Amino acid sequence: MRIHRLDIRRSLPRFAEPRRAGVALALLAIALAGCRSSPTSNAPNKPSGKSGPRILLLACDGIEWNVVLPLLKAGDMPNLETLMKRGVFGTLRTYAPAKSPVIWTTVATGKTPEKHGITNFFKSSPNGESIPFTSADRRTKALWNILSDAGRTCVTIGWWNTFPVEPVRGCLVAQTNTMEDFRVRGIVKNTLVRGVEGQVFPPERQNELLTLVDDVERELPDLLRRYFGDVVPVGSPMNVQSWNASAWAVRADEAYRRIASKLLDEIDDADLFTVYFGTTDVVGHRFWRFYEPKAFRHVPLPEAVRAMKDIIPNAYRHLDALIGELVRRVGDSTNIMVVSDHGMHAENVDSLFLPREDGQLIESGAHTDGPPGLVCLAGPAFRTSSVKKPIRELTRQDLPELGVVTDVAPTVLAILGLPIGRDMDGRVLGELLDPKFEERIDVQFVATHDTPEWLASRGASSPAVPGTKERIEQLRALGYLGDSQSPATTQPTASERGR
Ligand SMILES: [Zn+2]
Repeated sequence: MRIHRLDIRRSLPRFAEPRRAGVALALLAIALAGCRSSPTSNAPNKPSGKSGPRILLLACDGIEWNVVLPLLKAGDMPNLETLMKRGVFGTLRTYAPAKSPVIWTTVATGKTPEKHGITNFFKSSPNGESIPFTSADRRTKALWNILSDAGRTCVTIGWWNTFPVEPVRGCLVAQTNTMEDFRVRGIVKNTLVRGVEGQVFPPERQNELLTLVDDVERELPDLLRRYFGDVVPVGSPMNVQSWNASAWAVRADEAYRRIASKLLDEIDDADLFTVYFGTTDVVGHRFWRFYEPKAFRHVPLPEAVRAMKDIIPNAYRHLDALIGELVRRVGDSTNIMVVSDHGMHAENVDSLFLPREDGQLIESGAHTDGPPGLVCLAGPAFRTSSVKKPIRELTRQDLPELGVVTDVAPTVLAILGLPIGRDMDGRVLGELLDPKFEERIDVQFVATHDTPEWLASRGASSPAVPGTKERIEQLRALGYLGDSQSPATTQPTASERGR
């Protein structure tokens, strides 16, 4: 494979705003470091023996700094606080409209939605039906393909649009966008489903991992009580419906946690280990008006606020516990990347939130306009933050923008000593790397990772997806299906846009 030298102009984002001069200097330092040796000899070598993954990438859907900051202040997100003290943190710019499958595929590929091909939740089938995008619709390699093809080990759990799974070196556990379970139990998103092939690679592990999901299923009432307390939704019947329709997200996150824990035991020397968690996004959509009632024209009843105001903070506290558990499992030599695809804010602020005739939920939190997400990077590869204020005193204005969602994949590749595709739209976040680490890496480029053979293999049509109809109903309930299909996704007001 021909390796190209770093080209500073090429490494700047094509659509990003101009950055500080320090960025160019940092990239220049990487370029100079790269010139001191051959293209491959100076890449940081993987430590011998089992030492935990090189990078643990925690994909946390819809994390909003405006929710995080008061929790940090109260000492209620101690694990994120520890990571922030160890590393660098800020906002991550995203795209609008910010839709999870689109943005998470951008994170995994370093490419814009137009290039990677996952442009929405659904596409039209040849007979005009709406069907979910699948892994087969992605037109470019994702991190798990690039690593596998380079002989590196990666574990990917619950990432969007990974069903059906592709062969990898390591393990790939899909977020299975098949909704067979929904018909029977109303459990729909991002977890594994009995009776459907192609959810786990290697395939012989699928049944074993499904057993963990079965355990979670049995324990779900207890898990919900443990994470959220005894939530008794009051007021509109829609509140009860919203609560009942959130359990699947907890089921999914807990299943991913258990699968991650098991795979960390078995594959504790992966180069990249990624886990996706989505409950914070789901409850954000459904319960924002109880979290921030003053943002709404029709303030909910006080007893309803009392009953449901803590659902969102408790989801964040629980996510913090998940982060802490996984971070403790891997130790200090692992680079931790906590990344969210977008933030969240109040939505439908003029709505009465009366039950709709069609039974669909009206969301009170949304991110259609692409509010920035959270990024926190800690570990031997990263420098510490230049924000010197104590974590518990931080305000929104103190948070620097650290990059764009497209920058995650190139940064991961650079840390692992793998070449960055020149056709990627992001750049290496060189200014966030620890100078000592940065000296050791040699940022390399290839024209593209997408070889003609690999592209040819993408020609296969998407597999039949069972449960499509239910999947669509579930996403409509979340307000994801666009204006023509869901009245719940009204455009944000001017005041919300500035949030
Ligand atoms: Zn969302």
